[in-house]
Amino acid sequence: MIDEREWRETFAGSFRGDVKFGVSLKERTSLAIGGPCDVLAEPGEPVSLRNMLVVLEPMGIPFFTIGGGTNILVRDGGIDGVVISLRNLSRIEVIREGNADAELFVEAGVGLQRLVNFCKEKGYAGIEGLAGIPGTVGGAISGNAGSYGCEMKDVVVSVAVMDSAARLDRQAASAMGFGYRRSGVRPGELVLSANIRLARDEPQAVSSRTEGFFNEKKKTQPLAERSAGCVFRNPANGPAGRLIDEAGCKGMRMGGVEVSGVHANFFINRGSGTAADYQHLMDEVVSVVHRRFGVVLEPEIRVVGKT
Ligand SMILES: Cc1cc2nc3c(=O)[nH]c(=O)nc-3n(C[C@H](O)[C@H](O)[C@H](O)COP(=O)(O)OP(=O)(O)OC[C@H]3O[C@@H](n4cnc5c(N)ncnc54)[C@H](O)[C@@H]3O)c2cc1C
Repeated sequence: MIDEREWRETFAGSFRGDVKFGVSLKERTSLAIGGPCDVLAEPGEPVSLRNMLVVLEPMGIPFFTIGGGTNILVRDGGIDGVVISLRNLSRIEVIREGNADAELFVEAGVGLQRLVNFCKEKGYAGIEGLAGIPGTVGGAISGNAGSYGCEMKDVVVSVAVMDSAARLDRQAASAMGFGYRRSGVRPGELVLSANIRLARDEPQAVSSRTEGFFNEKKKTQPLAERSAGCVFRNPANGPAGRLIDEAGCKGMRMGGVEVSGVHANFFINRGSGTAADYQHLMDEVVSVVHRRFGVVLEPEIRVVGKT
């Protein structure tokens, strides 16, 4: 536990950025569920992040990195220590533009849809399928976000990663251990930025593909509701959403959380939902699907914090 006075004494002069205390993580997650964190720190630049990390570890203060909060379930007891958001690291720069392709430097706090729109306007092809996925570039790299056959790993050239002792490393994409909804980014490591490579195309063509994917997503996913995206990973024998649907779970409800009627792998917070409701519903769906198909669903969302 670190309080406001201790924070100010420890970091006076060495941290530039935004700091808030006792913030409810309901305000920082797309589910609008989650208890508070002791400190929410949003460094203004990497040096302040570094200055903070070198002190937190020896002081034994834990930290958790949050992006857009669109793929996590924060438990009702909240998160001890410091929640770090990199949303102030929000630069997109074109570092090379050739005839056939272009390379961009993108910071972790850039909204994924801001990047998708930037590429649409410039005629940079490769991430059209990511249209409509909320969250940040840091979160998309950490979980290798993807849809419509397009994954973040397809465009990443290298990633700048800082570890909990504030050591900075640049890793080639081939060394990142990307796989289905995962990367080699370990707990305690922070993605600061990435270089990504995209093919050049007519802006009109990129725009039309992006809009096509976005329209498809709007039809098949409850984009406007409070969810954390897909709850479960797709097992080997088909989409988790289809199994949940065929097991008859659409509309199933625990407290304020309900299985979406639009896409069964999305759980919706109807307003008063808690993390406990969400986890009870997960347990119930896992057990119904197991009884019906003999398949054990594994979570895709990351569950963090204390009960
Ligand atoms: C309506 C809706 C639709 C969605 N559709 C899709 C989809 O089609 N495909 C898909 O893949 N996902 C989808 N998602 C899930 C989610 O949007 C993505 O997984 C997204 O990439 C998560 O990014 P985030 O910034 O919100 O990460 P968060 O949810 O904040 O964090 C997720 C994980 O990444 C880690 N993390 C975040 N930022 C960093 C960083 N800078 N460095 C290190 N670790 C970090 C966190 O610690 C956490 O473990 C959807 C979600 C919603 C709500």
